[in-house]
Amino acid sequence: MHSEACKALRRQGYQFVNTTSSAAVKPCMWNKRALRGGDMCYKAQFYGIESHRCVQMTPTLRCNQQCLFCWRSFEHEVTEEEECPPAEIIDNLRRLQKKALSGYKVSPYVPPELFAEALDPTMVAISLSGEPTCYSHLPEFIDGLNSEGYTTFLVSNGTRPDVLARCRPYQLYVSLDAPDRETYLGLCRPKKDYWDRIQESLAGLATRRSAIRTTVVRGYNDFSPEGYAAIYQDSGARFVEVKGYMYLGYSRNRLKREQMPEHEVVRAFAEKIVEHCDYSIKDESPVSRVVCLERDV
Ligand code: SF4
Repeated sequence: MHSEACKALRRQGYQFVNTTSSAAVKPCMWNKRALRGGDMCYKAQFYGIESHRCVQMTPTLRCNQQCLFCWRSFEHEVTEEEECPPAEIIDNLRRLQKKALSGYKVSPYVPPELFAEALDPTMVAISLSGEPTCYSHLPEFIDGLNSEGYTTFLVSNGTRPDVLARCRPYQLYVSLDAPDRETYLGLCRPKKDYWDRIQESLAGLATRRSAIRTTVVRGYNDFSPEGYAAIYQDSGARFVEVKGYMYLGYSRNRLKREQMPEHEVVRAFAEKIVEHCDYSIKDESPVSRVVCLERDV
C-alpha cells in the first residue's frame, strides 16, 4: 500500500496502523490547539469532550460515496489489500497517537500535564475520512473500544443501516446532506441510490444518543429548511449539527471558496429550520461555523 496516495496522506499527518490496510490515526487541529492550552473543538463546548484526549481515526479509508465537499482525493484513492483486525487497531492507537504528537513534547507552549493526558486518551472519534461501515468488523471494533474504557463517537454517512443497528458507540452521528433524493444524488454522488437506506438509518436514531450532521454547501443544498425539519422531526435524533462546508483538502478541486457559507448564514438557515420542527438552538461555534440544535423534551 505504498502508493503515491498513501505517501501524500503521510505527509498530511496520517499514521497508518500497518502497510496492508488503510486503518489510520490523525490528530485533528483541535487536539493540537488544546494541547497548547488553546481553544477546544466545538465537541468540548457542545458535549463536554476534552479535545486533547481524543483520538481521531478510521478503520478504513474506503467509501461508497464521493461527496463534492469531501476532503478525500477521489483521483488517488488509497488501495486496501486487507482489513486490519480490530484488536490490532486498538493495540496500536496509543502508540500512533504518541508518535503523531511526539513533536509537542518539547514545545514550551505545551504544559507537561496536558501532554501526559494527551498520551492517555479517553475518547475515540471514528470520523477521520472514509465510511466506517465499509469496515466489516465495525461492531466488534466499537465493542472492543468500549470495553477498553474509551468514549466512542461514530460518524457515518448512514448508507448501511443494518451495520449501524449492530454498533454501540456512546454517540452516533449520521449525515443528512440534502432535503430530497435528487439533491442527495447530485451532491453526495453515491455508488448506488442509498437515499432510502439513509432514511432508515435516521429512523433508528430515536432510541439512542445520536446526532444528525448536515453540511451546508452554498448553492447546492441550502434550501428547503422545512424539508430538513421534517426529516429531523421523523428521526427523533437528540442533536442536530448544522455545519458550514469548509473549503479544505481535495474538496477545493470540486467546489469554490464562495460555496463556504459564513457563520451568520449557517445560523440563519438553522433558525429557519427550527421554525418547522421540535428542535431549538442549543449552542453555536462561529469559528467552526456550526450550530447545534437539541430536540425539545
Ligand atoms: S461519505 Fe464522508 S468520506 Fe465518504 S465521500 Fe462523503 S464526506 Fe467523504
